[in-house]
Amino acid sequence: MVGRLANKNTIITGAAGGIGLETAIQFLKEGANVVISDVNDKGLTAAEQKIKEVVGSFEGKLVAKVADVSNEVQVMALVEVCEPWGGVDVMFNNAGIMHPEDNGILNTEEKIWDLTQAINVKGVVYGCRAAIKSLLEHKKPGSIINTGSFVGLMGAATPQIAYTASKGAVLAISRELAVCYAQKNIRVNALCPGPLNTPLLQAFLDTDEKRTRRTVHLPMGRFGEAIEQAKAAVFLASDESSYVTGQDFLVDGGLTRAYVTDI
Ligand code: NAD
Repeated sequence: MVGRLANKNTIITGAAGGIGLETAIQFLKEGANVVISDVNDKGLTAAEQKIKEVVGSFEGKLVAKVADVSNEVQVMALVEVCEPWGGVDVMFNNAGIMHPEDNGILNTEEKIWDLTQAINVKGVVYGCRAAIKSLLEHKKPGSIINTGSFVGLMGAATPQIAYTASKGAVLAISRELAVCYAQKNIRVNALCPGPLNTPLLQAFLDTDEKRTRRTVHLPMGRFGEAIEQAKAAVFLASDESSYVTGQDFLVDGGLTRAYVTDI
């Protein structure tokens, strides 16, 4: 069976869990060669095992490589993995953190701000730079997907100022790169999830009160699932989205279109 991503060489950061792990499963099912990466080495090993169990047999290659996205040398090494296969085609810069001490403007410490920007912003820049260099060298079209967030587009009175700023930057970076490299057939989109049922957010929302404070604003009355983002990532990675670039690609259950919900 020829998949929607057959023969595409793909890299996914933050693949030990959540969106990244689900996307690796979908990419492999669609015939891609996949490099999964994360800073969490034990989590990455467990993810590789889970992927093999869930997908069963697959035609593409699967390589797991530990990398901290805030380290440019380590990010470049991920792109190197794809060189013997003919170079990277799809770069999914998905790794990100939401620090528990990230709060309002008056009480978020500089070290939390710096750490968040180092991973969420510089990590995306390094991933884009490494992928673009390789795509230009190979004279290939490509798709770069950067995980942004709805918080880059909407204000929230439950502030996480460093995270919000970082995701605003991801949207701006993605837009500019999309315009700069459109003539080279390198597409760049920001996948913008709504609030999800993954550990990143749910670890934060440890009481019913905190969860309800969010769900009343969600037209569907529920958090999104990682697989719903993964399906969108498949579309953005594939040639089916050949005329889609520079977008804040919202997969948010209608959150950003709602004023008053029916809840
Ligand atoms: P997750 O915590 O399950 O996955 C994030 C992964 O990134 C983890 O495996 C973590 O180990 C990895 N990571 C953290 N720092 C890293 C680093 N320095 N280098 C490499 N990997 C690192 O969370 P998720 O919900 O799957 O999040 C994925 C992306 O989606 C993030 O960018 C997040 O900001 C974004 N997002 C999440 C939500 C949500 O509600 N969960 C909403 C909007 C956007």
